[in-house]
Amino acid sequence: MPEQPRSRRQTRAAILTHLLQSGGSFRPPLAKSVRLSEASLSRILFDLKAEGLIEEVRQPAPYVGGPTGLVSLDGSVALAGLELTGQWLSVGVGGLTGELHYTERVPLPAKPTVESVGRVFREALTLLRDWTRRRRVRLAQIGVSVPGLGRLSEFGNPIIPCDISRVRALLGDMFADVTVEFTNSVVAHATFHRCRTENYPFSGAHLFVFVGQGVAGAWMDDPIEDDAFQPVELGHMVFGADGPRCRCGHHGCVEAFTSLPALAELLGVLEPELLQRGSDWGGCDPDILARAAGTAASPVSPWPRDRQHAERKALSRRRHLRLAVAPCGE
Ligand SMILES: [Zn+2]
Repeated sequence: MPEQPRSRRQTRAAILTHLLQSGGSFRPPLAKSVRLSEASLSRILFDLKAEGLIEEVRQPAPYVGGPTGLVSLDGSVALAGLELTGQWLSVGVGGLTGELHYTERVPLPAKPTVESVGRVFREALTLLRDWTRRRRVRLAQIGVSVPGLGRLSEFGNPIIPCDISRVRALLGDMFADVTVEFTNSVVAHATFHRCRTENYPFSGAHLFVFVGQGVAGAWMDDPIEDDAFQPVELGHMVFGADGPRCRCGHHGCVEAFTSLPALAELLGVLEPELLQRGSDWGGCDPDILARAAGTAASPVSPWPRDRQHAERKALSRRRHLRLAVAPCGE
């Protein structure tokens, strides 16, 4: 790959991203993967070490005469995260290497308002401050993930009422010296999967699609650029005007085909059961797989509706699903 002119910030980001994804690396393979000479890499590693972001541990390399210093992110750096969802505000403290030291959840009221969500943030941040004080933990950064944040067509946040400027001010009062970053929750999910999934299938630009109660996407580009990850609205794009009815009132939106409620209905299971299955959502029950594939494996239909009708519906949705999913792999 030809060497592109890069800023110091981009080079540092490339090294830190590589260490986050790999969990640690010897210098020669690290230099190769971030496209730097070993001398240039040495200079940058020296700075990163002085800033307390990385550490180098003596460890024999798996080959004779190889390097002996394993470079990894510094395990003593503590980061806090807050994740806002429809039910909870979760708060946690962890390290750069992925271990979790503390986690707590504060429930949201059934009908959240800007005021009540603000109070929940204050409660969660008080828990965080108390815990870090008791343990004498110094936070390096706080990340806050909010659903729907940064969508161009939205004013405020209609998914969960939440005044970001108010939360930012609260963080400024309670954690004055700590850097705070807000991000869209789908971007946070996408970043997590990209950095933590072994053999993540894409390295170039791609669309990450998150399927939950709704459907949303994140445009994923080179992670060392500032605007690399952009939330994308696609849940209510219409893929077939004669499709199933969506909760927004239109017919044939992506959500009506592929959201959690739509998949649960298609597979003939309840939403909580589908959620409980996690990533094995169709894997353990041949009947369910068969339903999803639009073929009947079970001699006795356990489903309440007419089987032929259900299969036709499954097949027609599959055709639409493929249409919806096709651009994602490009
Ligand atoms: Zn819709």
